[in-house]
Amino acid sequence: MILPRFDVLVPETVDQACAMLVEHADEGVRLLAGGTDLLVDLRRPIIPYHVPRCDGCTTHPEGKVASTVRCEPSDPLMPAGGPLRAALEDPRHAAPKYLVSLHKLNQLKSIQVLGDGSLKVGALTTIAAIPRSPEIRRSWTALADGAANLGSPLVRNRGTLGGNIANARPAADTAVPAIALDGTLTLQGPSGTRTVAAEDFARGPGLSVMKPDEVLTEVHFPPPLPHAGSAYYKLANRKALEISTVGVAVWLALEKPGGPVKDVRVALGAVGPTPILAESVGEVLAGKTPDEKVLGKAAMAAAGDARPIDDHRGAAWYRVQMVELLTLRLLKTVVERIASHP
Ligand SMILES: Cc1cc2nc3c(=O)[nH]c(=O)nc-3n(C[C@H](O)[C@H](O)[C@H](O)COP(=O)(O)OP(=O)(O)OC[C@H]3O[C@@H](n4cnc5c(N)ncnc54)[C@H](O)[C@@H]3O)c2cc1C
Repeated sequence: MILPRFDVLVPETVDQACAMLVEHADEGVRLLAGGTDLLVDLRRPIIPYHVPRCDGCTTHPEGKVASTVRCEPSDPLMPAGGPLRAALEDPRHAAPKYLVSLHKLNQLKSIQVLGDGSLKVGALTTIAAIPRSPEIRRSWTALADGAANLGSPLVRNRGTLGGNIANARPAADTAVPAIALDGTLTLQGPSGTRTVAAEDFARGPGLSVMKPDEVLTEVHFPPPLPHAGSAYYKLANRKALEISTVGVAVWLALEKPGGPVKDVRVALGAVGPTPILAESVGEVLAGKTPDEKVLGKAAMAAAGDARPIDDHRGAAWYRVQMVELLTLRLLKTVVERIASHP
């Protein structure tokens, strides 16, 4: 793999990492965690692969963008000149001169259940460590499901939770469960820390509310409620080393086993420019007894919230149908799990 030249800086603290991001902002600087996304992006900086293509995009035979790029997407929300042109002109996609490696920040590598029963996962926790945690498997199951189905063992051993979320891909296999589980992200910058709800983080493919001098330090999940459960399903064209065609995460709490729905959150991946919180599901399910008919209506509502595109992984109409089918299946699974382990 041929990479552009860069120097690696190794901070000992998050404050130092932020200072390095500020100091080298003009020369180009990026944070490096596991590198499983970043190094791939650096190898081909000209067309970041998370940038959506349109029918008009043409590429040079060597993979470089032809100088006469035609990019005229019909979607009025697309940036002027098209997503490809916008990416080419975006300084964030230029090859950086410095990488700030986070590997010495051991304080960001922990999984902790706090005194109030909530869960704190450090941003540098590897994807592989997540499903190995019995607490996460038991009480934040959707997150364990997402991590267990990301990439391959090699990728999971290097890739981190923070990198998966910070990269802001619509199909990110831990970002979707993080939304369903009502996760909160802590961002630390030179002037202090702030928190952002997981569903408010991504702003478009590869774009987020994170500032260039901020580090994602941890993801926090509320304590598990009684009679609640969660699950995530990744639909992909093969079982490993594949980005999802559709990802659905469901979290649901009942008032009591067999009782009405107290609260529900359904999140969708790969069916919009960002992972999506399917808010219509709550409107259909809240306060209702989760029988077959009601769950069917909730699944239809989730499908209505999806905004997919056609691409090589699947047609938009297929993705919408799969959102409905998977949401129904996962809602039933979670209700059954609550009944068997109230
Ligand atoms: C072969 C292969 C298969 C893959 N399969 C999947 C898959 O099935 N599902 C999936 O979701 N992903 C998949 N990925 C993508 C990738 O492995 C994950 O997104 C991974 O979790 C990224 O974590 P990382 O630590 O390697 O991030 P890095 O590559 O180090 O960083 C990714 C981005 O996030 C930024 N960043 C990293 N950490 C932080 C932080 N703490 N604060 C702020 N910014 C940060 C970096 O600057 C960079 O822009 C795959 C990648 C490869 C190469």
